[in-house]
Amino acid sequence: MTYDPNNIFARILRGEIPCKKVYEDAHVLAFHDINPQTPVHVLVIPKGAYVSFDDFSAKASDAEIAAWIRATGKIARDLGVAESGYRVLSNIGSDGHQEVPHLHMHLFGGKPLGRMIKPADK
Ligand code: AMP
Repeated sequence: MTYDPNNIFARILRGEIPCKKVYEDAHVLAFHDINPQTPVHVLVIPKGAYVSFDDFSAKASDAEIAAWIRATGKIARDLGVAESGYRVLSNIGSDGHQEVPHLHMHLFGGKPLGRMIKPADK
């Protein structure tokens, strides 16, 4: 998948459309999902133009990778789900049902989340 600079998250990063920001640093932006699936549903994105986890892991600097991981953990703590538990998930590509072609980590929490994938889905 190639990076489309007009994807919705690129436009949020450029300030062309608003977001409900929860965290920002030099390498990372995090904001509430516009269509939350759980009481806590935040998207944590690198600021760089990376489309997928494999793209990011191959091309991003150590500082960018560390920032993305550290930010996700900090947001879990700051939003109060570290004790109760939460889920981080990144949808990649067609089989992964990725809708926005800018790498993002979903952070879900605030209620029991159930199994990750139903056994019948195997
Ligand atoms: P994915 O299937 O992992 O690509 O999910 C993309 C996510 O982006 C979905 O959960 C959408 O609700 C969310 N989303 C799409 N547009 C926006 C937006 N403008 N602000 C915040 N979240 C968005």
